[in-house]
Amino acid sequence: MPVPLFDPLASQAPLRADIRAAVHRVLDSGHFVLGPEVAAFETEFAAYVGAQHAVGVANGTEAITVALRALGVGPGDEVIVPSFTFWASAEAIPPTGAVPVFCDVDPDTMCVTVDSVKAVMTEKTKAVIVVHLFGNVAPVAEIEALGVPVLEDAAQAAGSTSPAGRPGALGTIATFSFYPSKNLGAMGDGGAITCRDAALAERVRTLRFHGSEDKVDYVDIGYNSRLDELQAAILRVQLPQLDRWAAARAEAGDRYAELLDGVVKVPVPTPGSRPAWHLYVIRHAAADALAASLADAGIGARAYYRTPVHAQPPMAPYAPRVPLPGTDEAARTHLAIPMSAALRDEQIAEVAEAVRAGVSAAA
Ligand SMILES: *Cc1c(COP(=O)(O)O)cnc(C)c1O
Repeated sequence: MPVPLFDPLASQAPLRADIRAAVHRVLDSGHFVLGPEVAAFETEFAAYVGAQHAVGVANGTEAITVALRALGVGPGDEVIVPSFTFWASAEAIPPTGAVPVFCDVDPDTMCVTVDSVKAVMTEKTKAVIVVHLFGNVAPVAEIEALGVPVLEDAAQAAGSTSPAGRPGALGTIATFSFYPSKNLGAMGDGGAITCRDAALAERVRTLRFHGSEDKVDYVDIGYNSRLDELQAAILRVQLPQLDRWAAARAEAGDRYAELLDGVVKVPVPTPGSRPAWHLYVIRHAAADALAASLADAGIGARAYYRTPVHAQPPMAPYAPRVPLPGTDEAARTHLAIPMSAALRDEQIAEVAEAVRAGVSAAA
């Protein structure tokens, strides 16, 4: 039986009636932008994450730009960011006027480390973007201890946990994406910014609304970047399911690790963390040959970041200042295999069997 790489509709299917009711509630309300659904979702999402404040924004990319601006990042500043991540983590920096400075990752966890950040810090470093890549939980407190604010890019980590708390509550400010394929996905674009500090949350609220509170007086050059009422209402139906979905992703990861550790390199959760794997990403020297043999067996598999961000042509002005061996290694060898909250044991066994067969064939 074919196993797709992911299947967002499978976990949402039981919620269809509730989602329809939520959509109708918004249609009947006549409120479409910044109304009661967004306000309620912000309260509920902040409580889930364990942050004091959540602010809904248009998507996970603008969430990063707005959050950096709220931290005071601007021209002349440097922002550290890993190169092994989704493009948007770094793309969101130049619009603030600041310069992205690429740091390395540990290929086993695929996250930044204190040392990889330290290696590129300068007196111009204004913030560090730490990406909780694939749902793993990057070290945040240890990096903030270096004396620089951390922005958590938690786009892939909704539902993950760590001993210090959930992604979104670990650093000075954090950003989420509710793009449909994410662990908590809307039915369109959406995002959120979470933080502890009330004044910082206020700056975010102003920036997402043209740098204004009332569209009469303007205090900043801001953005039009808002989560809409329909998406907020849909997200409110799904949020209560997130823990269950996260547990299913974590358990599927455990099962894969039992079956595949030693056959390929399996992702290593950071100490104490319980990743709600957004993507389950293995590593193998012949990753592309393995992907081709999985495709022949009807198993969805793909590399996401074969060319790391710093090597994409538009980032040429921001060439890395240090070698990035962990990034190069992860970029060359990674391969995502099927993962979703609805993945069944027999599907996991089938994928693992196909991976074993593919590895033997590639040897
Ligand atoms: C998806 C994603 C984003 C961007 O989110 P959008 O809502 O698609 O703009 C940013 N960073 C990471 C790590 C992501 O996976």
